[in-house]
Amino acid sequence: MDIYADIGSIKNVGEKRRELLNKVGIYTVRDLIEYIPRDYTDRSIITPLKDVDEGEEYTVRAKVRGDFQLLLRGKLKIIKTIISDGSAEVSVVWFNQPYLKNTLNKHKEYLFTGSFKAVNGRLTMTAPDFDEVKEDPGLNAGRIVPKYRLTKNLNQKLLRRLIYETLGEAEELIEDFIPKYIKDEYKLPGRVFALKNIHFPENAESFFAARRRLVFEELLILQLGLLALKGEIKKKESGIKFSFFETDRIVEALPFKLTKGQEEVLDEITADMESGCPMNRLIQGDVGSGKTAVAEICAYIAYINGAQTAVMAPTDVLATQHAQTFKGLFSKLGVEVVLLKGSLKAKEKREVKKRIAEGKAHIIVGTHALIQESVTFKELGLVITDEQHRFGVNQRRLLTSKGENPHTLIMSATPIPRTLGLILYGDLDISTIKTMPAGRQRVDTSFVNSSYHERIFKFILKHVKEGRQAYIVCPMIEESAAAELKSVKAFVKDLEETCLKETRRGFVHGKMKPKEKQETMDRFAAGEIDVLIATTVIEVGINVPNAAIMVIENADRFGLSQLHQLRGRVGRGSYQSYCILVSDTKGAEAKKRLKAMVKCFDGFELSEKDLNLRGPGDFFGVRQHGIAEFKLANVYKDRDILKEVQALSAEIWENDRFLERPENRSLKKRIKDVFGEAENSSPGL
Ligand code: ADP
Ligand code: MG
Repeated sequence: MDIYADIGSIKNVGEKRRELLNKVGIYTVRDLIEYIPRDYTDRSIITPLKDVDEGEEYTVRAKVRGDFQLLLRGKLKIIKTIISDGSAEVSVVWFNQPYLKNTLNKHKEYLFTGSFKAVNGRLTMTAPDFDEVKEDPGLNAGRIVPKYRLTKNLNQKLLRRLIYETLGEAEELIEDFIPKYIKDEYKLPGRVFALKNIHFPENAESFFAARRRLVFEELLILQLGLLALKGEIKKKESGIKFSFFETDRIVEALPFKLTKGQEEVLDEITADMESGCPMNRLIQGDVGSGKTAVAEICAYIAYINGAQTAVMAPTDVLATQHAQTFKGLFSKLGVEVVLLKGSLKAKEKREVKKRIAEGKAHIIVGTHALIQESVTFKELGLVITDEQHRFGVNQRRLLTSKGENPHTLIMSATPIPRTLGLILYGDLDISTIKTMPAGRQRVDTSFVNSSYHERIFKFILKHVKEGRQAYIVCPMIEESAAAELKSVKAFVKDLEETCLKETRRGFVHGKMKPKEKQETMDRFAAGEIDVLIATTVIEVGINVPNAAIMVIENADRFGLSQLHQLRGRVGRGSYQSYCILVSDTKGAEAKKRLKAMVKCFDGFELSEKDLNLRGPGDFFGVRQHGIAEFKLANVYKDRDILKEVQALSAEIWENDRFLERPENRSLKKRIKDVFGEAENSSPGL
């Protein structure tokens, strides 16, 4: 057996099973033994039959006492018998498994695990899993039992058996790539032990030791791999070397003076751009810190060096807004900015693409389709992506691989605590805009319950009469998009009964076509709509300086970082602005979070709090990637391990950067393995 052998080559896996296993991402023997359970049930406690209750799952140790009856209910074949453990007798049924009558032997004892139901006043065990009682406990009962992520026609029993048998056979092939000195220092068990116990824990203690070891290795490989990627990028001499950095013309064209924070970040960027190696830098800055201006100056530098810049935004609406901002500034400087987006007519698209290919368009703004689509650049020198925190490591690698090592600049509006930044963006250099433009007013924030609605609406009306605009955000409160839409529509309708009926209202939601959404956003930006009611689709990054009020309904549904983002949509002009968080939550935790919003205005501090209160899943918003790339580690729950790993990685990076020492070679091999398969390009080790 070979650890990389196709899964179809092992015993008991034919073509059908092979396909099923492929469906859940298992292609090789290695994939199979590293297929981590999603959950466990503790079936190690045996309960006497006399003590079981209805509705719960138990494991009992019993013998078959009755005959097997076969009952037919339509298409359903029910097989029924009686089991006894000496303390009591109960009926057992299985469905559509008539062959069990030949499997279960009356002279043997079994562990049955399943739940009990009252049928005609008698407790009946339904469709239990069972294993024969032997010296070695079985895989499905009488122990802590793993539960795997399944697909149709792939069941737990089969997976358990395949994994168990393969683990036994592959044992000698499992390489422990964590060097002994690390295992000793951090008290980690060996890899064979860890894999065996993550699948079939002997007891709670060995499970935790196994998990710790596997989390440790996952984080360590990722962290070292990212550092190596960064090292590799740095080593590349083939980056485009820029030589001209005379930015006076653009700086004078900006309607404001750069902040110290913006200047510092620009210095770091300039150093990258003249180094001759491709820049790969993340700019973090709180909402409103002025990342756009930084991006504009960078694009200008590319321009005076004869290179094109691609600016990518996550959505159409944001791309359009960026294009407008860039055009506003660059038209004065004779630099051509074009917008390339999906909704353009075929002819326009062709025209724009031609200008890009000929190098007539200098700055190209679009969604990330810009890079995926068949767009050819004459001289792509800089790629700027906005709000990039939505993309994971692999997507990021894909983007940069498109050009001839262009410089890349990634703008993130979600401040990330340092430890997390290191593991999520370990391949990037990180710059932070530390200061906000002067004269920014603090957005006056309050937290109220829904009994305040009438007062809130009057407050909005008063400001609308003074010429201001307002957002009202209703988060997704229903399970389905359809139900969500209904609830927002109902809310919009209810508003017609309030004093806001005097205002001009607009409505955007996730189900809308991009074009309609854009039209409504444009009308809001142009001041033709006073109150914009939105589901969460109002993008982070939308800039309407005249908007001064942000009302967030069911505010407890959001994470602090998201709330902070939303709040950042107001307070962009010179008007005093307000954020009103509305929630009837009874939860102590939720109240705590909302109160934090009232007091705290620092995005970094809030993201740190968010992480501690809710964990990373929420911190990044639903399904925002990066995090999902971890198999086992949870950077929130495992933050202590993460810290250990980071200290260790820094030490290794310091002493043996290219992992050339004999004791570190096994680490190097594993990194190549993991990164190679994920991205088709391994770090330069
Ligand atoms: P973000 O970092 O959230 O993307 P923006 O780039 O959209 O922030 O900037 C927010 C607002 O601040 C914009 O209206 C922009 O014109 C303004 N701004 C940016 N830099 C400065 C500055 N140095 N001084 C004053 N205003 C600035
Ligand atoms: Mg922005």
